This record gives sequence, C-alpha cells and structure tokens, in this order.
Amino acid sequence: MRLRCISCKAEYEPDPWLFRCPRCGGLLDVVHDKVDPTPSQGQGVWRYHKALPRVRRRISLGEGGTPLIRLSSTRHERVYLKFEGANPTGSFKDRGMAVAVSIALDAGARAVLAASTGNTSASAAAYAARAGLRSIIVLPRGRVAKGKLFQAMLHGAKIVEVEGSFDEALKAVMSYIEEEKGLVYPVNSFNQWRLEGQKTLAYEVAGELGDAPDYVIVPVGNAGNISAIWKGFKDLYRAGVTSRLPVMIGVQARGASPLATMAERGLNEPAWFDKPETIATAIRIGRPINWQRALEAVRESGGTFIAVSDQDILEAQKTLARREGIGVEPASAAPYAGLTKLRQKLPEDATIVLVATGHSLKDPGIGVETEIYHAPTTEDAVKLIKDIASKS
Ligand SMILES: *Cc1c(COP(=O)(O)O)cnc(C)c1O
Ligand SMILES: [Zn+2]
Repeated sequence: MRLRCISCKAEYEPDPWLFRCPRCGGLLDVVHDKVDPTPSQGQGVWRYHKALPRVRRRISLGEGGTPLIRLSSTRHERVYLKFEGANPTGSFKDRGMAVAVSIALDAGARAVLAASTGNTSASAAAYAARAGLRSIIVLPRGRVAKGKLFQAMLHGAKIVEVEGSFDEALKAVMSYIEEEKGLVYPVNSFNQWRLEGQKTLAYEVAGELGDAPDYVIVPVGNAGNISAIWKGFKDLYRAGVTSRLPVMIGVQARGASPLATMAERGLNEPAWFDKPETIATAIRIGRPINWQRALEAVRESGGTFIAVSDQDILEAQKTLARREGIGVEPASAAPYAGLTKLRQKLPEDATIVLVATGHSLKDPGIGVETEIYHAPTTEDAVKLIKDIASKS
C-alpha cells in the first residue's frame, strides 16, 4: 500500500499524518498493488478488511450493510436506492469514520478534528467517543441542521463556530494542520483513509446486484464520496469481481454548483461559489476540496455533473417519502431529482443506483405540508377519522 499524489503522481510510504504531496501540495490517493474487495465475517466496513488499511484496533458501530431498495415511482424499471440513512449516525460518513478514527488511534492522536456541514460532525463525534478520543468540530454558525448539531453535542464534541459557510470552517482545519501535527487528527474527506472506508458502498451494491450497475447517481458537496465510490467500483473491476464499470453522475444544488457549472460551461476548473446557498445543507459547499478526484471519476466513467433546483430537491424528497416510504434529508434527494431531470437521456433498461446519503430526521421540518385537523373531543376525532376515511 502506498500514497500517490493525485496531481504529480509522486509516491510515498503510508504515513497517517501525510495528506498533501510534499512536492506539489496535491491530495493523496491510497494505492493498493492488489486489492481483494470480497467480504469476510465481521462487523461493519471491516468485513472488507482485505481492501482496507491494516490497523491495530478496528473501530466500528456496525456501519454499512445498508438497504438497497428498488423504487417503483420512476420511469426507469431498474432503479435502486442505497439508503445510507440507515447507518449508525444516519449518514454514509460512518463508513469513512470507522476507518479514519481507527487510523487516528494508530497515529497516537488524542482527538479528531473536522469541519462539517453537520453529518461529519455527528459521525466524527460518535466514532471518536467509541474509540475513547475527544472530538473538535468546526461548524458554520447558524447553518447546521438541528438533528446533526444535536448529535455532535450529545456525543460530547467541542464545537467551534465560524462565520461564513462550510468552506471557511474547512479553511480553519487546513490552517491548523499546517501548524500543528501529532495531537489532533483531521477526519475531513481530504483524509484519504476516510475515503477508503466510503468505497465499501460500491462493494455492497455490486454484491447485491451481482454486477456493477450502469449508472450511479451521487449528491456532491466536498466531492469525496463520489470519488470513493468510483474507486470502489474500479477495485471490483480490477479484481475481476464485476464485468463492467458504472457511469458516475454527480448532482449538485443549483446555488452551490461549482462542478455542474464547470461541466455546463465546458470549463477546466470549477466555477467557485463564494456564497453557496441551498436548502440542501449537506451539499452547501462552494469550494469542494476533492474536486480533482471527482472530476477524474466523472471523466473516466463517462459521466457528468448536473445541477438541480431547491424546488426539485424538495419535490424529490416528498416523492421518495410519500410514494416509496423512504425518508431522506434534502441533499440525499438530489440524485432522485437528478434522475428526473436526466430521464430521457438514460436508456430505458439501464440499472441505476441512487445514493441516498442521509436520514430525514437529520433536518426536520423544512417545507413539508400536510393536513392537520384539530379534535377537541374523542367524538370530534372519530368524526374526523370517518370523514378522512371516506375520502381516501
Ligand atoms: C457529506 C454529505 C454529502 C456530500 O458528500 P461529499 O463527499 O462531501 O461530496 C451529501 N449528502 C449528505 C447527507 C452528506 O452528509
Ligand atoms: Zn504532487
């Protein structure tokens, strides 16, 4: 196992504290000479330990193994939703955190550190607690969904609030690790070990479908997850487990769409957003740190980035909830909105997997309407029930 710079391709011995190429500053990929993506006995993502870094103590809360649910509300016949909301803290971040926090222990850190739009903080705080480490979280003040903030607080995180968006919070983390190493271990998605954990989603999907799907549609914020999932599918293909590679499609919210805008305008670099704005807080990111990895995933796979409006996201969230019974947070509904937007362009018989990244309870109470009737007495309630029943 080695580390390879994603820009200049220089290679380095694995070092838990190395996140940027000393030569050019590029982020690093974990490169395996040979990788075995088949599961063994055991708990959580460590079932795939043959494809993961070796650690002294495997931290786990039983993450992964999430439901792959076939949808019936789409125009395409074979659409599956990978429900990452079923992870221990309610998002896919747990897959990566299991690995990153185990590495933090090996590296002798006393605490983990993460900037977050919310879910990373919930996951980092929980996995740090599990490992007996402390957690320090940097959040954009007033911009984190309630459920996520509550989780970070419940698990005992120390919270630093900054003015601005997630991008400012991440800048603080990056600046800190330039200055001090050895004490506090950063677990944002520039951390290549975290992405190793997240690639197991691909292993599970292929295992369940019997091969890779034709398309995988992923919401994109800091752009780590789409990169990790693509890496997982490449592992499978190289190992001869699958016969093909999927096309990767990244979906962003219109108001925070540096990569989709780049694709639309045919630019070579992201169109950075200084003030990202969307109700999908988990992908409210203007300067995705993993943009090069994600661009490579999309280019290599023949895919693209697209943007969807907040209104389309809310509509998709409602459809998933009311026609499929699946409750996801807004960012996680973006792939469904993306599929609706792309539907004419994807072949009728394609197998499509939507990655639904987080649970509905993370971000309760935005833009949901329903009828609520008031019944002062039991008789009133019975009358109302009869009334409603006769209309349904
Ligand atoms: C973190 C997160 C994303 C974005 O993932 P990236 O790896 O940052 O692109 C999307 N949806 C949810 C629910 C998330 O928590
Ligand atoms: Zn380099």
